[in-house]
Parts: sequence; structure tokens; C-alpha cells
Amino acid sequence: MNRSDKSGSDFPAVRADAWRRLEVFADQMPKYAAERNRVVPGHTNVSQLSPAIRHRVLSEQEFAAFAIERHGFREVEKLVQEIYWRLYWKSWLEMRPDIWTRYCSDRDQFSSGAWRAGEKVMNGQSGIDIIDYFARELTTTGYLHNHARMWFAGAWIHHFGLPWEMGADFFHQHLLDGDPASNTLSWRWVAGLHTQGKSYLARPANIEKYVDLEILDANRAGLERLDGSIANIPSEDPIPERSLPKIEDGEAGHDCEQIGWWLHDDDLQLGEDWKGARAVALLSRDIHVQARYGENRKMFIQQGLRDAAKQMESRAAVEFAETSATATFLGDWADDHGLKTIVAYQPWVGPIRDALPEIESQLCRRGIALQLHRKPSDHWWVGEATAGFFGFWKKVCRNQAFVSE
Ligand SMILES: Cc1cc2nc3c(=O)[nH]c(=O)nc-3n(C[C@H](O)[C@H](O)[C@H](O)COP(=O)(O)OP(=O)(O)OC[C@H]3O[C@@H](n4cnc5c(N)ncnc54)[C@H](O)[C@@H]3O)c2cc1C
Repeated sequence: MNRSDKSGSDFPAVRADAWRRLEVFADQMPKYAAERNRVVPGHTNVSQLSPAIRHRVLSEQEFAAFAIERHGFREVEKLVQEIYWRLYWKSWLEMRPDIWTRYCSDRDQFSSGAWRAGEKVMNGQSGIDIIDYFARELTTTGYLHNHARMWFAGAWIHHFGLPWEMGADFFHQHLLDGDPASNTLSWRWVAGLHTQGKSYLARPANIEKYVDLEILDANRAGLERLDGSIANIPSEDPIPERSLPKIEDGEAGHDCEQIGWWLHDDDLQLGEDWKGARAVALLSRDIHVQARYGENRKMFIQQGLRDAAKQMESRAAVEFAETSATATFLGDWADDHGLKTIVAYQPWVGPIRDALPEIESQLCRRGIALQLHRKPSDHWWVGEATAGFFGFWKKVCRNQAFVSE
């Protein structure tokens, strides 16, 4: 099914909402370092902007620049550091794409019996009420606080003894910010696979310290059971050597009339570097089905793409479209408009990237080139996560001229 429209109809203004949230969160920014670990009703101590950032409705740099401009770098350093954790994970996975491939393949090999073993926890029926509360929060809202993600993953792996890949898939389906890098690598960290021998266990005392009583008092039953958890670090083959990612950046070689932009889930903001006659913000239902996204997630991406199309209206002939056959759609779209080259932001390691070989080969058969392009800032991050986060952070501070005066 292919459907295309000029998107005049009703849908949320996702980018404007993200900016509003940033404004609402502004006063909290200097208190972030002290208060970010607490899980409170409404999550007012954290930004909840991750779904917008994941899809670049709002960019990491826009978020960081806003915080620094309002309060000065020193006051918001912890918050800015967390924003750059995201780019660190992206860059780290970009250099080790086999980790993603291996995760997808292991996940797809679990038997239905193995999935059933995880169902009680996913359905919020584990018998540990606070973990069940988090499972329900995830599936109904699409969001979980960072500490809740850590406790849930810690309980999943080290208390229930379930495979980390299955838990990561549960998160990836339901989180509106579900991200191949942050999610996969955080689950691996909790499991004890990222930093050798260092795993994360959900401890009742830690949960009691950080979960607000309004939530905890209604969800205390079974909490003491987590006291018995012991580290259950999975074994795995050595991590593949890191390699510098292939960066494809070149000139399209056609005049603008023959170039069209394909905007996809990984970056919903057309930068200044864009050129071309037209653009399509494409909802790829086939890729979403393959990646097993839940309904809330699919809806958020749809709204983001529609909004992106609306934002671009003044700059290009732009349309929002949805398809269940991405490769065919792009070929037909190019032919319909006489396009010789389709340009897109280089998808990060993840579902859109996985679909590229098929897309490229279909377009190639039709004589259409697919040109992938990185924003200049992304050019810089990729390749910098050569070791731990703090080495990366030092380089970021130098590159971005962040100074704590
Ligand atoms: C098991 C597990 C799974 C996770 N899965 C994801 C995921 O799929 N997608 C995702 O974006 N994040 C993931 N995280 C990281 C983190 O939990 C979320 O980014 C954060 O909770 C988002 O909420 P927020 O926007 O309110 O964050 P804030 O605290 O307001 O932070 C601001 C921004 O910084 C970034 N950030 C904050 N903490 C982290 C972190 N620990 N790692 C990476 N980036 C961070 C996010 O972009 C976030 O929007 C995961 C963490 C764990 C432990």
C-alpha cells in the first residue's frame, strides 16, 4: 500500500511540542545533576525529550545549546554530558555494527517457549510489583525513567534469569525513544557485557532510596525478592574489532531538478546542506513491522514525519507518504518525478540501515542512484568513540569549546 498526501490534516506539531517541553524544563536544568536519579510522578526532574531527540525532531546540539545559553555550561554540565552519552553510544555502535547484527540474529532465534518465559514479566505479572509497574508504564506510555530502565533490565537478567536480547527487544518495541545504540548497549552494560565483569543488579535499598513514596507505597509487594539476585553475566564470543565506518559523502552529479530527498526515521530535520527539487517524508511500514515496533512507537514516528513534511513546505515540494514496500515506493516516486538521484541522511546502525541493500539494489536496477550523506556534526562524532565515554567527552568539550569558567 502506498499513500501520499500534502498533510494539511490534523496531527500534533511534534517539533513545537519539543520546544515547549524544553521551555518547561528550563528551570529544572541546573537542578538536574542533583535530582535526575529520582523516579517521581510525572518525571518532572528529567526532560522526557528522548523520543524527539531519537528521531532528530530536536537535535542534540539544539538541546545542549539551549541549556548552555540559559544557564551557562558549568550549571548544566551534567545534563549536557548525558546528551552526549547518546552520541557516544551512536558512534560506538557505528564502529561495531556486528554487535547489532548479532543481537538481531540471536533475538530472532528464541523459541516460542523461550518467549513465553519472558511474557509474565513483560505483561506486568512477575509478582514484584514495582517491576510490574514499570512494565505497564512502558507499554502504556512508551517512556521509562533511566533508573527504572536500569532496575527493570537488572531484574530481568540477574533475578529472572531471562536473556538480555529478549528484554532489549521488549524495550525497543515499546520505547518511543527506542534506539539501536542506547538500548542495545545499555542492556549489554547491565548484563555485564560492555564493561568486562561489571554488571548492574536491581537492589531493593536502591529502589527504596530513589522511587518516590507515592509510587513505591502502592507497589512494594515482592520487592524484597530482589535481594537474592546474583550476577548472571552471559557468555559470548569476543566483540568484533572496531572498524571505522564507511562514510559516503559526495556530490550527486545531477542538477537539482533531478534530485529528491528521502527523509526517514533517523533524522527528521532537513539541514542547511539539503538541495533538490522535492522531498518525501516516508513512513516505512515494512521496516517498522520487521523491527517489531509497537503501536505507540509507530504512531509517534508517523506524527514526526508528518510534522517534518509540514516544516519543509516552504523549502521544497514535499509530501508525507506511507508505504509497505519502501524500495518500490522510492523507485516509483523517483520515476514519477523524473529524479535520477535520491539523497538521504546516512541511517545509523539499525532498522533503516538494515533495509538499505534491498533499497539500493532496486533503485540501481531502475537506473536511480541512492546517495547517502552525513550532517557535518555527525561526521565528527562518528569515529570518536574509540574508548570509554570520558575520553570522548574530553574531545567533545574541546571540539565544541565547552568551558566551565
Ligand atoms: C536498559 C536501558 C535501555 C535504554 N534504552 C534507551 C533507548 O532505547 N533510547 C534512548 O534514547 N535511551 C535509552 N536509554 C538511556 C536513557 O535511559 C534515556 O536516554 C533517558 O532515560 C531518556 O529520558 P529523558 O529524555 O527524560 O532523559 P534526560 O535525563 O532528560 O536526558 C537528556 C537526554 O540525554 C540523553 N540521555 C540521558 N541519559 C542517557 C543515557 N544513560 N544514555 C544515553 N543517552 C542518555 C537522552 O537523549 C535524553 O533525552 C536506556 C537506558 C537503559 C539503562
